[in-house]
Amino acid sequence: MKTLQYVKSFTAQPKQKSKFCVMCANVATQIACFEVGDNVTVVEKYCDTCISNIKKGL
Ligand SMILES: [Zn+2]
Repeated sequence: MKTLQYVKSFTAQPKQKSKFCVMCANVATQIACFEVGDNVTVVEKYCDTCISNIKKGL
């Protein structure tokens, strides 16, 4: 069970390659941080479409 902690905008730095959404492989624009228990947090990247689905699931 993972719990959403926060979401923030994400923009790749010009020298970095684009990062991709973990759900649909579009270019990622948002970062979501999840708590997964035992003080472990996981950061995943999402596009705008998928992040809105994540937020609805709160
Ligand atoms: Zn996506």
